[in-house]
Amino acid sequence: MGKVADLHVHTNISDGTFTPEKVVEYARMQGLDAISITDHDTCAAIAPAIKAAGGAGLEIIPGVELTAELDDDEIHVLGYFIDWQDEAFTKKLEELCRVREERAKEILRKLSEQGIDLKYDDLMDIAGHGPGSVGRLHIANLLYQKGKISCVRDAFTKYIGNDSPAYVKKFKLSPKESVDMIKSVGGVAVLAHPKTINTETRPLKDIVRSLTGEGIQGIEVYHSDNNAKDSREFKEIADELGLLITGGSDCHGLGKKEVLLGKVKVSYELVEKLKQASYLA
Ligand code: AMP
Ligand code: ZN
Ligand code: FE
Ligand code: FE
Repeated sequence: MGKVADLHVHTNISDGTFTPEKVVEYARMQGLDAISITDHDTCAAIAPAIKAAGGAGLEIIPGVELTAELDDDEIHVLGYFIDWQDEAFTKKLEELCRVREERAKEILRKLSEQGIDLKYDDLMDIAGHGPGSVGRLHIANLLYQKGKISCVRDAFTKYIGNDSPAYVKKFKLSPKESVDMIKSVGGVAVLAHPKTINTETRPLKDIVRSLTGEGIQGIEVYHSDNNAKDSREFKEIADELGLLITGGSDCHGLGKKEVLLGKVKVSYELVEKLKQASYLA
């Protein structure tokens, strides 16, 4: 079999549960040749992952996952082969993480209005006190630990889902701003998990076409939430619009109902095409 990659992996630096070292160990066990670490709004896991991989056997592709706002909806934009050590880029990510902390406090305040008192310190014990991003999956985890819900999904349906009482929007870039931020550090901008996009008012192809106008270069055709028909549809859109194709598990360690790392494997040929589109080429 040729070389394979999982291009969408979270660590505990954002809202995954595995450390970068654990992700590397698990990726090797899954027979992967390359992974991309794509934490929300942070690149702080990339250095420890590269160190753990030790330059042998497993390639770590530097990545990030940004959130952008599209017609009152939220899209995620993946950046690949980014110059993750760039100073200005790092500062921007740190600012996004700081805004996330304020938002988490606001969510806790709204939860207390619902009669649920959670301490910010306890949240930080889960999210980590060091660099990285705090998000709703951490809050769901805390709600679970405190016995307020019976499973993580309930946290979203009852409290913190997009239409729920304690939901607070997070700072969102425009699609163009997110793309520009990725391209400013030589990366390739890819639309993540198109299945999550609201297509009530416009067909997906129209949405993706307009995003290509904002500079999106690829689309995540393969993802663990997809069925075969979804992936076929996304592949057709990619081919028709001349977009790069990526795929990944979107593993969050134990944070989702199963460990997904390596459940989506794409051919390394797709990685080579991505690399050619970045300024590393
Ligand atoms: P945030 O970036 O803080 O808004 O949180 C987004 C995270 O919450 C992502 O990891 C999503 O996978 C997760 N998430 C969003 N909605 C749900 C849901 N209904 N059930 C489980 N996880 C969700
Ligand atoms: Zn996440
Ligand atoms: Fe995402
Ligand atoms: Fe993700």
